[in-house]
Formats: sequence, structure tokens, C-alpha cells
Amino acid sequence: MRKPKLRELREAIKAIFTGPYTPKTFLTPPESLRGLTKFFEDDCIGCSKCELACTPLAPHEFDYGLGARAAIYIPHGNAIPQIPVLDPDYCIFDGHCARVCPTNCIDFTQQPQELKVQAGAVIIATGLKTTPMGAKKEYGGDKFLNVMNPLAMERVQSSNGPYGHVLRPSDGKIPKSVAYVQCAGSRDKSIGVPYCSRVCCMYALKQAIMIKHQRHDTEVTIYYMDIRAFGKGYEQFYRRALAEGVRVVKGKVGRILEVENHDLALRVELIDEGGGVSEIRHDLVVLSQGTIPGWRPDGAVPIGVDADGFFEIREVTTRPANSSTEGIFVAGVATGPKDIPDAIVEAGAAAMEAAMYLDRTWRRQTELAGAGVEA
Ligand SMILES: Cc1cc2nc3c(=O)[nH]c(=O)nc-3n(C[C@H](O)[C@H](O)[C@H](O)COP(=O)(O)OP(=O)(O)OC[C@H]3O[C@@H](n4cnc5c(N)ncnc54)[C@H](O)[C@@H]3O)c2cc1C
Ligand code: SF4
Ligand code: SF4
Repeated sequence: MRKPKLRELREAIKAIFTGPYTPKTFLTPPESLRGLTKFFEDDCIGCSKCELACTPLAPHEFDYGLGARAAIYIPHGNAIPQIPVLDPDYCIFDGHCARVCPTNCIDFTQQPQELKVQAGAVIIATGLKTTPMGAKKEYGGDKFLNVMNPLAMERVQSSNGPYGHVLRPSDGKIPKSVAYVQCAGSRDKSIGVPYCSRVCCMYALKQAIMIKHQRHDTEVTIYYMDIRAFGKGYEQFYRRALAEGVRVVKGKVGRILEVENHDLALRVELIDEGGGVSEIRHDLVVLSQGTIPGWRPDGAVPIGVDADGFFEIREVTTRPANSSTEGIFVAGVATGPKDIPDAIVEAGAAAMEAAMYLDRTWRRQTELAGAGVEA
């Protein structure tokens, strides 16, 4: 069988594991990609000439629709490999891209394929999604133009993002006053996310510091119930944010209203600062949304999930990378909310567990074969 290419593996979604002695994993492209994207032949050198020649523009998904992309495009700056995909929904098939391609590798006739990949062990690291913007109706995240998703804020702050710095989505103006609403999708049984998402206090502080660095005169206020600065050096990071002028207000935001000019009025039940309910205006609001599992197996992989939907771990304290099924390992946010350093540690543990498992399986099969027993 042909060895699968990295970009094919990257799209793999369903895994069916048939047991430790005849391990087989069948991977197929995700439903969402079927018919949407086409892949290019191996000759692509990633020069982007096709992208530059293509005129139809579409909202760029990676920038949460705040920037644009061509119909043929490299999905994002850090994509591996740096090879374009073609979106037939926006392509007008005028062939400009094919004419400028120096290696003549664009194939408009390519069809989606189903791949089957045999593997001796599987590591699931399907990460996180954030709670939907409309999860809490009272915040208007799915209605108001200037209520932003924190991942979109990551993109607008990024030097390779759509603007390179923070601008209001409604009018492209520099915001003078930005609010962060903490626990905007966590610690809330009413939306099915009773747990703390662990990373939002720290990413809000990080983004707030970055806004202050880019625009000294922009006020940034974080409304919070608790600041959970739990990791090494995190308390110092929190103190640094305060020293750099980030304001923190202990209080629960009950409702966000859109007022004139797409500005926002926050009704806040203050816990400190004398208590009571205040209405405070801001130009831009970021909802610190909750972390939920990036993928739910729904029977595609025979392993257990816990009450919060994250993959179950057999022995949390001693074998945090082992799932409830032999031969399937788990790492990162797939097992519960965590930050990048913790996800990397788990990835290393999962890789080591998988390597040991393959070694054990191979030894056992060799012994059985030596004894004349068919595995
Ligand atoms: C707004 C925001 C800001 C953050 N900032 C920081 C920060 O500054 N520092 C920090 O330490 N942490 C930060 N975090 C947390 C950080 O994002 C996570 O710790 C990290 O991404 C976890 O890595 P992961 O590999 O487990 O999951 P992910 O990064 O979510 O990666 C999972 C991958 O699996 C893919 N995938 C999902 N399902 C499937 C499937 N079925 N088949 C194939 N592929 C699939 C996804 O597309 C994704 O590429 C932030 C989180 C948010 C929401
Ligand atoms: S054929 Fe499609 S992808 Fe190629 S340049 Fe024209 S519109 Fe863009
Ligand atoms: S990390 Fe902070 S904002 Fe996020 S759920 Fe926990 S306490 Fe709330």
C-alpha cells in the first residue's frame, strides 16, 4: 500500500480500532471537507503564484472572517505543508491559477478519496473548541458586531493577522476601551460547562497586556469572579498586567446591551468596589469563552469519555496518557482543559506510551509466532 502523505493524514478523522493483536485503524477525511477542498499533486512547490493570480475573494476562516482569502489559498501561515487548497464554492474556473503555476500541478478533476491507514497504536489529540458565541444569549455574542471571540482577538493581535493590531469589527476604528468578560462560557451549569476552563484568565491577561503595548491610551478592563493564575510564574504575570495599567474589576457581568454606534453597555454586579449593579460602556468586548472538547468520538473510537465529554483516562495520577482502551493514547486538551506547556508534556508521555505499547505488542506477536500460535 502507498504510504499516506502528511496532508492526507492531517485530514483523517474516524478511527476504528479492532484490538491489540490485529491492530488496524481506518482513517477517512472529515465529512466537512468532502467536496469542499481539492488537493494538489506532489509537484507543488508552495510558491503561492496561483493564490496571487486568483481574483475571487472569500472570508478567511482562519481569521474568523475578519480578513479575506482567494479561492485557491494556503490555509494559514503556519500550515504544514505550505500547499494550497482550492475552494470550489468560490472558484469561477477561469484557469488563471493553472496558467501561472510553474510546475503545472493544479488538477481540477481531483476527487475526494477515502483513505485506510493501518496503525499499531493511535494517539488522540483532538484538542479544544470554544463554547459557541451564542451560548449565553444575555451577552449577544452572536448578534453584536463588537463582541469578539478570544480566538479572533488572537488573530487581530497577530503580526500576520488581518490587521496586525486591534480594530473594532463594526467600523475599523481603534478601540479606546476594551472589556474582557471572564467565565463567559465556563463554571456555568446552565450551558452544560460546570468546570473552570483553566486558560481563559491567563489568555485574557496576555491579550490585555498586548493591547496596552500596541495602544498605550486604550483602557482594558477585565471583569472576573476569580483570577485563576495557577501555573509557575503566572501570579507574577498577573501582577505585571496590573503594573502595565490593565484594570481588573471583581464582578459578574449579567447582561451586555448594544447601544448607539455599536458601542456596548455592560450591566455588572460588582462584588468589590462597594457592590451594587453598574452599567459601564466599552467600545469592544471580548468574551472569555469556555473550553469544550474539539471532537466527540460518538462511537467512531471505542474509548470512554467523562461526564464533561473529554476522553477518560484510566489512571490519572500514574498513566495520564492511557485511555480506557488498550492501544489508544490521549494527550492535550482532548483529556481536559490545559495550557500549551501541559499539553506538550502530555504529548511526550503519549508518544512514549505508544512506543512502549508497540514494542510490547511486537514482542508478544514474535513469541506467539515462535510458539506456532497465530495472533
Ligand atoms: C483564545 C485562546 C488563547 C490561548 N492562549 C494560550 C496561550 O497564550 N498560552 C498557552 O499556553 N495556552 C493558550 N491557550 C490554550 C491552548 O490553545 C491549548 O493549551 C492548546 O491549543 C492545546 O493543544 P492541543 O494540541 O491539545 O489541542 P489543539 O491546539 O486544539 O489541537 C487539536 C488539533 O486537532 C484537530 N482535530 C480535532 N478533531 C479532529 C479530528 N477528528 N480529526 C483530525 N484532526 C482533528 C484540530 O483541528 C486541531 O488542529 C489558549 C486558548 C484559547 C482558546
Ligand atoms: S480557476 Fe478558480 S482557483 Fe484558479 S484562479 Fe480562477 S477562480 Fe482562482
Ligand atoms: S480560567 Fe478564569 S475565566 Fe476561565 S473559567 Fe476559570 S476562572 Fe473563569
